[in-house]
Amino acid sequence: MPPISDHLKTSIERTGKDYRDVHEWIDGDPEKKAERHDITKIYEYGKMIEEKYGKEALEEYIQHIHDDVRAKVNHIQHDLEKAIADTLAYFGLSNLKIKEKQ
Ligand SMILES: [Zn+2]
Repeated sequence: MPPISDHLKTSIERTGKDYRDVHEWIDGDPEKKAERHDITKIYEYGKMIEEKYGKEALEEYIQHIHDDVRAKVNHIQHDLEKAIADTLAYFGLSNLKIKEKQ
């Protein structure tokens, strides 16, 4: 997932402010990091963040979760494509074409 510095940069580009407190709250404590990325808690945590830092901070919190999900999925997709390519090469099937049903 992107480092905090990337999240700060994204927030600055989007709002002109880095929202460091929000991003450090989400990513800063290794023991609470997974819980703070739990999308089932977005309402609860989002409400808390909005009350403490305002509506724009709430949007940056949601954007942070979004950017982390995207980065993680991209990483998984890359690993999966490499694993498939490696497996096909291992069995000499790199030129395998999957026929479409007619
Ligand atoms: Zn994060």
